[in-house]
Amino acid sequence: MYRLLLGLAIWAMIGLITDINRISKRSSGVDMTIRTVDVSKELQPYLMEFDRVMNDAGIDVKYGSLVVIKFVPLRTGLLGVAWGMNHDVTIIHINPVLWATMSHQDKRMVMFHELAHDVFNLKHWSTLLMNPVKPQLLDKAFVDNAIKLLIKHIKDVR
Ligand SMILES: [Zn+2]
Repeated sequence: MYRLLLGLAIWAMIGLITDINRISKRSSGVDMTIRTVDVSKELQPYLMEFDRVMNDAGIDVKYGSLVVIKFVPLRTGLLGVAWGMNHDVTIIHINPVLWATMSHQDKRMVMFHELAHDVFNLKHWSTLLMNPVKPQLLDKAFVDNAIKLLIKHIKDVR
């Protein structure tokens, strides 16, 4: 795992925007020496929404010293994988082939699902958003509600 982390950490830092830098700064309080933020540009708005929603809800998000959220080919049918689950890092891979077929609401659902696995260590079925199979037709109201239930779940558990 350490070799993997080191390998990831020496990747060039790309696609940084002001908001991503804000997350990067916040991560620096964690006592790990490697500190990298590498998020695919197309995924950044979804990470920022997640971050803003959690902030607004008063939930402290600990991403860890390494935040890598990227498109990586995954096996057929798999939307994303949260490798950082149960680790003090955030490493999420998103299936680029399936991403290209998804609606904006699908993408919100998938990113919140993977981020909730990764940063809150949530398991499948713990709340609506953590169901392992994404509903076929998602509208904004459904996803907004799933996010609301996620926040309630996190607050209830804490
Ligand atoms: Zn999952």
